[in-house]
Amino acid sequence: VRERLTLAQVERIRRARHHSILLFITDRCPVGCAHCSVDSRRNSPTIVDFARFEELVDGIAALDDIVLVGISGGEPFVERRGLTLAVHRLSRAEKLLVLYTSGVWARSSIPDWIHSVLCEASCVFLSTDGYHAEVLPGDRFVKAARAIREVDTSLVVQVIRIPEMVRAAESLLHDAFGPAWPREAELSLTPPLPYGRGASVFHQGDGTLGREFGPCSALAAPVVRYDGRITACCNEQVIMGRGPDRLRARCDGAQLHTALDEWKRDPMLSAIGGIGPGPLTEHPRLRDLSEEPFASICDLCWRSLERISRDDAKGDPLLVGAAALSEAVRASA
Ligand code: SF4
Ligand code: SF4
Repeated sequence: VRERLTLAQVERIRRARHHSILLFITDRCPVGCAHCSVDSRRNSPTIVDFARFEELVDGIAALDDIVLVGISGGEPFVERRGLTLAVHRLSRAEKLLVLYTSGVWARSSIPDWIHSVLCEASCVFLSTDGYHAEVLPGDRFVKAARAIREVDTSLVVQVIRIPEMVRAAESLLHDAFGPAWPREAELSLTPPLPYGRGASVFHQGDGTLGREFGPCSALAAPVVRYDGRITACCNEQVIMGRGPDRLRARCDGAQLHTALDEWKRDPMLSAIGGIGPGPLTEHPRLRDLSEEPFASICDLCWRSLERISRDDAKGDPLLVGAAALSEAVRASA
């Protein structure tokens, strides 16, 4: 029986290190929002080598520690062949599935293949905000929300944490389900991301001192891209090729386990995801970063990773200790 997941359950699994993975199945999306953090376009690249993609999906299916697979893009529903293949195989392998979509597919009649994909998901994150609304009519959102609930899949509406956008999302949910909408859907508020096209819409903060940053939760869930590029975290810029090479690798399905393991054994990554890059600036080689302002945790992370290589970190007792402490804290959480 397919398990349904609430937002809290999804987040709990996502926080556990390497218990979930994000499968990025296409760069393509027809919606064209002004704030798109991954700069998706109608003609962006998508799967061309299906044999490679299939191997990657089988590689994920074979990872025993992975209990949950998120499927995103771009817009995953424009990649019909890849999406159906991934959903059917991963659900056969008893992985819990979470889909991320804009609902662009919810036209007057929704094809059967979409119903069958929605049916196999444990939860669907449906995104809406003022930028989507400029392109996607509200009734598309309403139809998508109803289609997800009609097959009894959990619905989480993802919206940027800006009060008028949250109010607009609540009003759409009211249109979809009436005043009892909180029984049908949960809201997940996300920060505005100043990446991709979002860089010209949202601005980075003024800066936080290095020592003040807590742990990076995004390191718990690596990303597998349809072409075999994988990233240690789900930072959009890293997926798009920016930041240290250490956060990226390329592999086929059979090499996936080894590639992920390499990240697990990198003491710097364990510590950044565990005690956090702030406390890590106590390390003598990072101490000057402690009082420096950074626009985001990622800027501090990149600078720290560039300064201490993986090999140096593995031979550094302080960092090995910080990694062990991080794992112990995680295990007791
Ligand atoms: S934000 Fe989402 S819906 Fe909008 S263009 Fe990007 S991928 Fe498409
Ligand atoms: S802090 Fe580092 S590991 Fe975390 S999301 Fe940013 S770049 Fe990725």
